[in-house]
Amino acid sequence: MELRFGEKEEKLRQDVRAFLKANLPNPEGGEATLGSRTDEDFEAAKKFNSELAKKGWIAPAWPKEYGGLGASIYEQMVFNEEFGYFGAPDTGTRGFGVGMIGPTLIIHGNEEQKKRYLPRITSGEDIWCQGYSEPGAGSDLASLTTRAVRDGDEYVINGQKIWTSGGHRANQMFCLVRTDPDAPKHRGISFLLIDDIKNVPGLTLRPLINMANRHHFNEVFFEDVRVPARNLVGEENRGWYVGMTLLDFERSGIGTTASQKHTLEKLVQNLKDGDPERRKKYRTKLADFVIANGVGRFLGYRIGYMQAAGRVPNYEASVVKIYQSELGQRLYNFGVSMLGLSGQMLPEETRAPIDGSMPESYMMAVPSSIYSGSNEIQRNIIATRGLGLPRG
Ligand SMILES: Cc1cc2nc3c(=O)[nH]c(=O)nc-3n(C[C@H](O)[C@H](O)[C@H](O)COP(=O)(O)OP(=O)(O)OC[C@H]3O[C@@H](n4cnc5c(N)ncnc54)[C@H](O)[C@@H]3O)c2cc1C
Repeated sequence: MELRFGEKEEKLRQDVRAFLKANLPNPEGGEATLGSRTDEDFEAAKKFNSELAKKGWIAPAWPKEYGGLGASIYEQMVFNEEFGYFGAPDTGTRGFGVGMIGPTLIIHGNEEQKKRYLPRITSGEDIWCQGYSEPGAGSDLASLTTRAVRDGDEYVINGQKIWTSGGHRANQMFCLVRTDPDAPKHRGISFLLIDDIKNVPGLTLRPLINMANRHHFNEVFFEDVRVPARNLVGEENRGWYVGMTLLDFERSGIGTTASQKHTLEKLVQNLKDGDPERRKKYRTKLADFVIANGVGRFLGYRIGYMQAAGRVPNYEASVVKIYQSELGQRLYNFGVSMLGLSGQMLPEETRAPIDGSMPESYMMAVPSSIYSGSNEIQRNIIATRGLGLPRG
C-alpha cells in the first residue's frame, strides 16, 4: 500500500502554495477571516478572489465549459488543503457561489440561467448568500413558510429568513420559498434566485452579531419583494429537490483539517519558545491533538477516495463533519488554556500570542456543530444509514 498524492498533484501543490504566499497579506497567519471581520478584510478577500479568477482558480473543479479547469477530486483536495492551511479568505463567491448555487445551476438551471450566473461566479463578481433557514425551520427545513405567490411574470415574496451568513456582503441570494401551502410540505417549495439584493424593493437585512462580536449573519425580511419568474430554478413546487442538490465536488472537509494542523504547528512553536515548566505540562496533550488531527486527515482522504472512485459518500461525510467540528472545539479550547491569560487577547491587541487567533477561533468553532446540519442530525444519519438502525 502506498498512500500519497501523485506527482501531478504535488506539482500543483507547489504552484498553489507559491501563489498563496504571494497573494495573502499574512500567509503565516493561518485562520481564515471568513471575509467577515472588517470592511478591510472583506476588500482583501475580494482582491484575493480576483487574483484567483485571473488564474481560473475560483472554481477549478467545474467543467471547462462553465469556467472551471475540470480538476480531478485529488486536485481539488490539494487546493482545499492549501487554502485551509494558509487561511485563504472568501467573500461568499467560493463558499456559496462555487460550493452551492453553481453546482445547483449546472444540474437544474436552464441555459439562460447558466449563461447569466456562472461566469459572474468564476470571475469573482457575484457574491451569493443562502436563504434557507427561518425562525421556525432549521433542522426541519421543509417546514419553511416564506411565501411566494405568482403574479404574471413575477413572484411576490413575503416572510423571513434567518442566520443568512454574509447577507450584508452579498449581491445575490438563492432561497427556498413556499409556493403551494396546501401540498405536503416537501412538495410545495420552490427555488428562487433574487438579484441585486441590496437594491431590490421590500427586502430588509438586519444584522445579527455573534459571540465573537462579528457581524457574520443576518435576519432577512421580505415585504412584497418582486422577483422575475425567469429566476425560478427547476419546476415550481419541486424546489426541495433542487435545494438538496449536492454535486460530486470535493466534500472531505480537508481544508478544516489543514487549518487545524496549522494551528497545532503554531502551538508547538509557542511551547518550544516558552517556559520549560509550561512545556512539561502541555506536551503530551499536544501530542494527543496531533494524533487526532492525523485521524481527521485520513477520514477526509477516505471521502476523497470514495468520490474519485465514483462512489457517493453518505454517512461517511457525517462522520467527518462531526469529527472535525468537535475536534476544532476541543483544540481551540485547549489552545486558549495553554496560552494562559494572554491567550484571551484578541487580534486587535498587538501583544496577543499567535496573532490573537486562538480566542477568535475558539468562539468561531462553537457554531460548527450547528451549521451544515447539526451534529445531532449527523448522528441520526450515521445511526440510520450507516448502522442500519431504525428511526426513532
Ligand atoms: C454560524 C452559522 C451560519 C449559518 N448560516 C446559514 C446561512 O447562511 N443560511 C441559512 O439558511 N442557514 C444558516 N444557518 C442556519 C443553520 O442551517 C441552522 O442553524 C441549522 O440547520 C439548525 O437549525 P436551527 O438553528 O433552527 O435549530 P433547530 O433545528 O431548532 O435545532 C435545535 C436543536 O435541536 C436538535 N435537533 C433538531 N432536530 C433534531 C432531531 N430530529 N434529532 C435530534 N436532535 C434534533 C438540533 O441538533 C439542535 O441541537 C447558519 C447557522 C449557523 C450557526
